[in-house]
Amino acid sequence: MRKLLIAANWKMYKTPTEAQSFLQAFLPLVKESRNEIAICPPAIDLPAVLHAVQGSHVKVGAQNMYFAEEGAFTGEISAAMLIDLGVSHVIIGHSERRQYFGETDELVNRKLVTALKHHLVPIVCVGEREDERESGLTEEVCCRQIGRAFHQIDPAKLHKVVIAYEPVWAIGTGKTATPAIAAESHLIIRSEVARLVGKAIADNMRILYGGSVKPENAEALLNQPEIDGALVGGASLDPKSFAAIVKAGVPA
Ligand code: PEP
Repeated sequence: MRKLLIAANWKMYKTPTEAQSFLQAFLPLVKESRNEIAICPPAIDLPAVLHAVQGSHVKVGAQNMYFAEEGAFTGEISAAMLIDLGVSHVIIGHSERRQYFGETDELVNRKLVTALKHHLVPIVCVGEREDERESGLTEEVCCRQIGRAFHQIDPAKLHKVVIAYEPVWAIGTGKTATPAIAAESHLIIRSEVARLVGKAIADNMRILYGGSVKPENAEALLNQPEIDGALVGGASLDPKSFAAIVKAGVPA
């Protein structure tokens, strides 16, 4: 069975002090949850968040990393730095990174290779823009992004990978994919993973849904057998709202 993962993407919100206050309120609310929970704060908040989650089952992820081991790459963060700090997860290829920071499928692939080498759990984001959906290109876009992300990676190394299906038109817009639309895309993605690297890996791979998930729609989405969790932006910034989403997912 695939364990549900509910991950928070805080984007560029919360100072370290605000992050600590969030966790003080949030941790008691999810003490009993058997779902996997990960908080992905801005990089500057990582030490404060890691400190605050000590003794709980909440994991901590980064929102980005660079593919090089080290070097003259001003402003970047390496996988080894994340591991040294105690970070376990990393988001790769979020649509905001693709849109505003020019991340290409090739860069996503190089980051994925490095994340796996360092035993991070990569959360690889894929999803179509609104114009692509309207032109009937959803399947083509998702399959292309996955194919290029996995390019030349030994399938045996892919078992830790989590995919987040995030239709770009649903991110931060309040427009959510219906559970049926999301489940249809998840099926397409799982079939493509099976075609690329085999059914056994595809059957075990967690595919999260992301795009305006909130307490009001979380249960219907997470009830879909194809949806193995959620990547939550806006609604993860409030402890009560994120805890309600965590609790909406009934553990496998
Ligand atoms: C995200 O940032 O990955 C996301 C899904 O954002 P939101 O939940 O705000 O749409």
